[in-house]
Amino acid sequence: MQGIARAEELGCQCIQIFVSTPRAWPSYAKLIPLNKPAKPAESKNCEDNLPDEDCSLFVQKLKEAKLEAPIAHSTYLINLGSSDAAQWQKSLDALVVEWRRSDQLQLNGLVMHPGSFTNATPEAGLENIVRGVKAAVKLVKPKFAKLLLENTAGQGSCLGWNAEQLGYLLKEIGSSHVAVCWDTCHALASGYDFRTKSGLKSMLDELDQHGVLEKIEAIHINDSVKDCGSRVDRHEHIGLGCIGEEGFKLFLKSKPFKGLPMYLETEKGVDDEGVDWDLKNLQTLRSYAE
Ligand SMILES: [Zn+2]
Repeated sequence: MQGIARAEELGCQCIQIFVSTPRAWPSYAKLIPLNKPAKPAESKNCEDNLPDEDCSLFVQKLKEAKLEAPIAHSTYLINLGSSDAAQWQKSLDALVVEWRRSDQLQLNGLVMHPGSFTNATPEAGLENIVRGVKAAVKLVKPKFAKLLLENTAGQGSCLGWNAEQLGYLLKEIGSSHVAVCWDTCHALASGYDFRTKSGLKSMLDELDQHGVLEKIEAIHINDSVKDCGSRVDRHEHIGLGCIGEEGFKLFLKSKPFKGLPMYLETEKGVDDEGVDWDLKNLQTLRSYAE
């Protein structure tokens, strides 16, 4: 609920929230926006998401605030790429809890990093992700919220950093309930140099070739502290990082991305002059898009 008020105050058009504490495993007691008493310990996480009246209040508030395309970001602990059976099951349970809650809140989507293969192989990791997402689709049966697989910076053994891997996942999962969220910071860090016309074109071509472009339904709009190909995921304020003004201008005006909902994931707080960073980043983006 605080997120909605904040978005209204800033003049946002869309919003990304968390439906559970981002750096903890979701449990019944920790779901957002409602905190309910925990269920008995023997209950499985998967069943922890019961209908509640507060969801409808949230939906109503969202409508009143005229915020379009609300999405959530899943907890960072989920790793469906894991070859460790217990870890994989825990990740599936958590995904199901968060996806169900996102669906109850009538969000457009739930963003998830595909996962990492840790000490196995990329192929095994991708197979594990396919198996996990397929199982989650069956359990959740979403009516509103799609699962949005986010491209990663490709740090460590993280999967889903290129069009080929994302395309493979989409094809193998084969569900209309699964789409893509494209993060500009991760794209640059993973090696897509879209800061020039020709670079942008080759990124779009590659995304198209692998069937990813048409599945992109949300954009995480962040500048990057680290340069192209660094494989380091560090978000920077708009225009102050390695993507820079020209890079964003090209990106914002490119046909496939224009009109998609964009979400800032830059650092909060105020600059040296006391100006709110969110406000400043929004203004910068709007001036670039003109
Ligand atoms: Zn992101």
